[in-house]
Amino acid sequence: MHLLPKFDYYEPRDIGEACKLLSQLKGSARIIAGGTDLLVNMKKGLLAPRSLVGIGKIPGISEIEPVNGGISIGAHLIIQKLVEFDLIRKKLSVLSRAASVLGSPLVRNRATIGGNIVNARPAADLPPPLIAMGARVRLKSRRQEREVPLDRFFRGPGETVIKPGEILTHIVIDALPPFTGGDYIKLMHRRSLEIAIVAVASRITLDGPDGVIRDGRIILSSVAPKAIRAVRAEKALIGERPSEGLFEHAGQIAATECTPIDDIRGGAGYRCSMVGVLTKRTLSGALREAKGQ
Ligand SMILES: Cc1cc2nc3c(=O)[nH]c(=O)nc-3n(C[C@H](O)[C@H](O)[C@H](O)COP(=O)(O)OP(=O)(O)OC[C@H]3O[C@@H](n4cnc5c(N)ncnc54)[C@H](O)[C@@H]3O)c2cc1C
Repeated sequence: MHLLPKFDYYEPRDIGEACKLLSQLKGSARIIAGGTDLLVNMKKGLLAPRSLVGIGKIPGISEIEPVNGGISIGAHLIIQKLVEFDLIRKKLSVLSRAASVLGSPLVRNRATIGGNIVNARPAADLPPPLIAMGARVRLKSRRQEREVPLDRFFRGPGETVIKPGEILTHIVIDALPPFTGGDYIKLMHRRSLEIAIVAVASRITLDGPDGVIRDGRIILSSVAPKAIRAVRAEKALIGERPSEGLFEHAGQIAATECTPIDDIRGGAGYRCSMVGVLTKRTLSGALREAKGQ
C-alpha cells in the first residue's frame, strides 16, 4: 500500500453543479461516495484521478422513498440503512438480507448502494437481489437523464454502461405483484468481511397463494464476469406448480449456466455444484415468502 496520490477535491451542493463539474473536468475526475473501493484502489496505486467529486452534500440522493407502490433508493444511501429501514425490511427483505452480509459494520456504515453498483465487481452483494426484483438505475448527466434496467447495466468486471459525466442518482424498483417473494444466500468461508465464493438471489411470483409460478428470476453471482440471470433455469419454473423436485431441477440447469473461475476461494467445479444447491435453497426461501410464511 502507498500513500494516497495528490488530488483536487470538489464538493458540489446540488446535482446540477455536480453534473457541470464532471463535464468540465472531463475524464480526469472520479466521483467519490463512501470511498471504500475508490480509496483502496488509489492507495494500491491502481487509480490516480486528478480530481475527486464528493457527492455527499447533494440533497435528494441519500433517501429511501415509496413511489407509486414501489421504492426509490438514493444512490448515496449507506448500506446499513438497507439493513435497518422498515420499508426495505418489509417490502424488499431480499435486499436487506444481502446488505446485512456485506463487509462488516464499519464498511456498511460508510459504503453506499451506488458505489456497490457502479464498482461492478462480479461478487458484489447488492446487484443480485436488485436484478431479481427488476431494479432500474437512473443516470444523470449535464445534458440528459436516462434509466437503465440493472440487468443491462454491467458489461464485465469493473465495466458498466455508465458514460463519463454521468452520475447514478437513484435505484428504482416498481411495485411488486402480490404473492412475490425473494431470497439471497451468500456462501463464504467466514461470517463477515468476505466476498462471496458463490451467491444466488431468487425471486418467485405465484398466481395465487397455492397457485403456479407466474414469474421467476434466478441471479448468479461470483460465477461469471458479472452477475448473470440463469435464463434457462428461470424458464423451467414458469407455469409450474412449485415443488422441491422443480427447484432441484432448476438448480441443475442453473449450474450449467455459470462460467466460474478457479481461485484460492474455490474451484470452478465446486462453485457450479454450489450454484445448484443455492438455487434450490433460495427458490424454497422465495416460495415461503411469496406464500407469506
Ligand atoms: C474491508 C472491505 C470489505 C468489503 N466487503 C464487501 C462485501 O462483502 N461485499 C461487497 O459487495 N463489497 C464489499 N466491499 C466493497 C465496497 O465496500 C462496496 O463495493 C461499496 O458498496 C462501495 O461503495 P462506496 O460508496 O464506498 O463507493 P466508492 O469507493 O466511493 O466508489 C466506488 C466506485 O463507484 C463510483 N461511484 C460511487 N458512487 C457513484 C454514483 N452515485 N454515480 C456514479 N459513480 C459512482 C466511484 O467513482 C468509484 O469508481 C468491501 C470493501 C472493503 C474495504
